[in-house]
Amino acid sequence: MGIQATYYEIIEQDSQKGMIMNPDPAPALKKIPSVTLLLEEQEFRQLAAWNSRKYLVHMIRELLADKRKAILSGQETELDLPTLWRELEIRLKTSAESHLRRVINGTGVVIHTNLGRSLLAAQALEQIQTTARYYSNLEFDLQSGQRGSRYSHVEDLLIELTGAEAAMVVNNNAAAVLLALNTLAKGKEVVVSRGQLVEIGGSFRIPEVMTRSGALLREVGTTNKTHLRDYEAVLSDQTTLLLKVHTSNYRIVGFTAEVPLEDLVALGQRHGLPVMEDLGSGSIIDVSRFGLEKEPTVGEVVRAGADIVTFSGDKLLGGPQAGIIVGRKNYIQALRSNPLNRALRIDKLTLAALEATLKLYRNEDQASQHIPTLAQLSISLSELQERARRLFRLLKKNPAAGLKIEIIPTTSQVGGGALPLSFMNSYALAFSSEEESVSEIEKKFRSFSPPIIGRIEKEKFLLDVRTLQKEDFPFIARCLTAWGS
Ligand SMILES: *Cc1c(COP(=O)(O)O)cnc(C)c1O
Repeated sequence: MGIQATYYEIIEQDSQKGMIMNPDPAPALKKIPSVTLLLEEQEFRQLAAWNSRKYLVHMIRELLADKRKAILSGQETELDLPTLWRELEIRLKTSAESHLRRVINGTGVVIHTNLGRSLLAAQALEQIQTTARYYSNLEFDLQSGQRGSRYSHVEDLLIELTGAEAAMVVNNNAAAVLLALNTLAKGKEVVVSRGQLVEIGGSFRIPEVMTRSGALLREVGTTNKTHLRDYEAVLSDQTTLLLKVHTSNYRIVGFTAEVPLEDLVALGQRHGLPVMEDLGSGSIIDVSRFGLEKEPTVGEVVRAGADIVTFSGDKLLGGPQAGIIVGRKNYIQALRSNPLNRALRIDKLTLAALEATLKLYRNEDQASQHIPTLAQLSISLSELQERARRLFRLLKKNPAAGLKIEIIPTTSQVGGGALPLSFMNSYALAFSSEEESVSEIEKKFRSFSPPIIGRIEKEKFLLDVRTLQKEDFPFIARCLTAWGS
């Protein structure tokens, strides 16, 4: 009776969806075995040796339920034990795989937040391995034999690279901003231009972080124009900090005005107020050397007089997820002693990767070559074209049935909320088909293991060679060989 009820319910649902139905599902349905019966079969008993009985029963139940649906909808008409066994085996294998896994980035977005932002340099990976495998002097001073500080491993490097007096690192830039505001401005007013009240990636919004930090937001100016006199007009004995926020992921263009950092610093000095800049992406080297829009480097911001500067470790810097804070000694000291810092602290593997990444910046050419984010941003157009041709030739060797492939010029993006107006010329392989829609093509590429992620443009599926890695090429070729099957 139970089965009958389910049977009609499912038919009802499926007919609403307009699916084809099996006119006579009863014979195949009768063949669906019971869970207990299956567990007695030789092959299933083998699986039981590797999986808990409870888990196996759960997986078998799920499989049988799916089979019942497939038979009722007419997608399947037959059922036999070897097939059931094979399918169960595949399902168990899939569920044993890591959920967080590698994907191939063909989107052309170099710092893709959804795909894990920056890739790490080989030097950073090596340091992670060693630090994870062995004990380390994380908080141990080898000179004195006493307790040490976890910041000591990167502080001198950051000072050297940015010219700041002091530095520390936390979990990410959002944490850096929260910690700074909470330490320097809790219960007091922080002045920010209305043009800089940004939202980054949906969850980081300056007004909300401000509220959580306990600081009071004092907005000044308008969306498009803020003048120094706007800041001046709201200063009172409640004011404790002047904040500048990098409008990372958007630009206000046209009739606009922003107060330069130098003028804010001068204002701060006249009134004894510190100035903080949330740089967002923050770069140690001038990215205009790659043909990108000129952005002030962290060093330039420090030299312009900012007292506190915060930026991300895994955006333009090309390191691990981290929030880097540089600035005046007294403020950094205060941030370090804030109890909140303990909850936001950086872990040792991140620290290992960050130190190795920062070391590469001692030589800019070395950094551009070894740090994948910078390497991808600096590939020449002729090299990109050469790569596109190489991949094209590889794919043409075993053409996929019905799939049209061409090389087209395209533009890649920096991503990570950095330089939203900088589009870099690049080349992509474009896929289209008479038989399959572009969304079907996209889905198929996404279903390989590792999944291949690209983007759809003008009814074509694009793989931008800028973000593809060398070892991705033969894999993509193998996928196309298996395209029809
Ligand atoms: C990206 C960004 C943040 C957040 O940095 P995370 O490292 O992702 O926490 C904060 N402020 C600005 C201006 C940003 O661009």
